[in-house]
Amino acid sequence: MKYLDEFRDPNIVKKIVKDIKDTVTQPWVIMEICGGQTHSIIKNGIHQMLPEEITLVHGPGCPVCVTPLEMIDQAIAIAKTDGVIFTSFGDMLRVPGSHSDLLKAKSEGADVRMVYSPLEALKLAREHPDREVVFFAVGFETTAPGNAMAVYQAEKEGLTNFSELVSHVLVPPAMKALLDDPQNRVQAYLAAGHVCAVMGWEEYEPIVQTYNVPIVPTGFEPMDLMEGIRLAVGQLENGRADLENQYSRVVKRQGNTEAKKIINEVYQVCDRKWRGIGTIPLSGWRLNDEYQMYDAAKKFNVGSIETMESDVCISGIILQGLKKPPECPAFGKECTPEHPLGATMVSSEGACAAYYKYHR
Ligand code: SF4
Repeated sequence: MKYLDEFRDPNIVKKIVKDIKDTVTQPWVIMEICGGQTHSIIKNGIHQMLPEEITLVHGPGCPVCVTPLEMIDQAIAIAKTDGVIFTSFGDMLRVPGSHSDLLKAKSEGADVRMVYSPLEALKLAREHPDREVVFFAVGFETTAPGNAMAVYQAEKEGLTNFSELVSHVLVPPAMKALLDDPQNRVQAYLAAGHVCAVMGWEEYEPIVQTYNVPIVPTGFEPMDLMEGIRLAVGQLENGRADLENQYSRVVKRQGNTEAKKIINEVYQVCDRKWRGIGTIPLSGWRLNDEYQMYDAAKKFNVGSIETMESDVCISGIILQGLKKPPECPAFGKECTPEHPLGATMVSSEGACAAYYKYHR
């Protein structure tokens, strides 16, 4: 298929691997931030083709995995409220909360519906003026423009029976938090190409300069990932730290200015708790003051729910790149995609699910 096969050509990938082998002289640890990249790496065996000096560790860029437990519990509580139609992307439905998940709530009678876009939820609100329609607005910078647009449109139409449970997270503050951790071992980042397509890379430049760490916005196909690794290794070996864009066919320095405009209209930056990691200052978006009436947590008064994490799950450590999924004692035993104990086994972008599917 044109525009796809050329980025999966094994001969090109092998040539890039040879370049990496010819360049590398010492061990380096590189983190791919995005869970989609993690899946592509494991699925295509990219980590196994690299010279042993290169260690890839998997970052926290899986929105489902880092959505805090209390948000899942809040979502379930709202979904069980009389008269509510609770809508969500499909990957959130099986994420375990403290005691249940949204699919179980549905099986117990809650009106939970999977949608492919927040605008579908808006349509439901128009069609059911007598019901409250709530959308679970989860994700990184990639899903934010659509989620912001739904609220903006609801306000323009005067729809008062629509709201969002917002749990947006931002990539650059998480990258900084990992680098600030005394246990950090990441020496270069592959940044998520789709996030950079929305936001550009200007906000990554201060991280490069402050931490002296190479950052390479990278795509998702095998050739993209191997080329991103080659660029990162080249910088590390030469003692350089630059922002080097591998994904130039999609990512521009300023990103998508229209998308950023609608995000800034509806959301504002806030502190955000990350599942397994903790609160990272200024690492999320919430509805800004003018759009508070669309905040489902306030509308349904679910802000103070107590939560209980599984004491077996080490997904927080995995999301920081400190361990890999097979190092979890529950991996493939008590914890499988059919019976997940943690979000990283549920999500299609979760590192544990990737290792379970492709690497056992
Ligand atoms: S294998 Fe399961 S229990 Fe272990 S870290 Fe992954 S999600 Fe958590």
